[in-house]
Amino acid sequence: MENRIEQIEAEALASLSNASDMEQIKSLSVKYLGRKGLVTLFLRNISELPVEERPEAGKQANITKKRLEAVFEEAAKRMAAGLSDNSGAIDVTLPGRPAAQGSLHPITTTTRRICSIFARMGFDIAEGPEVESDYYNFEALNIPKNHPARDMQDTFYVSENIVLRTHTSPIQVHVMEQNAPPIRIVAPGKVYRCDSDLTHTPMFHQVEGLLVDEAVSFGDLKGILESLAHQIFDEHIRLRFRPSFFPFTEPSAEVDILCVMCRGKGCKVCSQTGWLEVMGCGMVHPAVFENVGYNTRKYSGFAFGMGVERLAMLKYGINDLRMFFESDQRFLRQF
Ligand SMILES: [Zn+2]
Repeated sequence: MENRIEQIEAEALASLSNASDMEQIKSLSVKYLGRKGLVTLFLRNISELPVEERPEAGKQANITKKRLEAVFEEAAKRMAAGLSDNSGAIDVTLPGRPAAQGSLHPITTTTRRICSIFARMGFDIAEGPEVESDYYNFEALNIPKNHPARDMQDTFYVSENIVLRTHTSPIQVHVMEQNAPPIRIVAPGKVYRCDSDLTHTPMFHQVEGLLVDEAVSFGDLKGILESLAHQIFDEHIRLRFRPSFFPFTEPSAEVDILCVMCRGKGCKVCSQTGWLEVMGCGMVHPAVFENVGYNTRKYSGFAFGMGVERLAMLKYGINDLRMFFESDQRFLRQF
């Protein structure tokens, strides 16, 4: 009969070690120690044993009962404290949780890519203030008062003579004021225009380029931009230069690349034309050189500017400009 009570205790302890929540501990406690529990029933039935066995059996059963009560109480306490494992040890075999890792925004990646391509061609990186004086943003770039490019609709005015820069071109003026030719720079940065719809945001990113030296020609400009397009997209991308107008360059051109989606066949992205407008460029206007005191007889140069969002959309096949600014993790994780 002593074996029977030992058996019950062993069984109770084994079941308890497998219990994984409070519910299971409670039901085990009822099963063994409740009013109709196995230990309780054993004690109740002691009177049916032979007289000489009763004292010893009673003693054993009471010891078992006390021991189990203590063990169940302890298990319940541990569970309540959040330590489900009976031993309280840390399971070192569990695989670790990987740390969440960030990545670069596609605009940052594209800007860096453009800058590194130019750096390999000998260009330096230049930066300038986002809050500019009217002089650097307009006047020095041959955009006088009353020029349509200064339209109040487009420019964020901080005060009458202070604006949020509408392009990265003012950086050219700062660099030329501080350095004598030859100059080779690219200037990446944020620019601001009072414009917001499906294809425009009030803040966007540009990369500006400037090269000034003796005997610089339009042919040099074409060669550099062609090399850029080949390195961003691939060597089969063709370029097309269309005459255009910018106050700070003469002659000026808009640059189209062969549509990267349809390769010139015509599709929705290129509005069936087969070409995509990607940047503006031209030979630096002599008036700009005069503003910074350069000898226009000796030096010539070219400048170009491109929108980073536009290039990133074409490069990664993104069709909605707003996705760049929504900080949606599902979108950003793809890059
Ligand atoms: Zn196309």
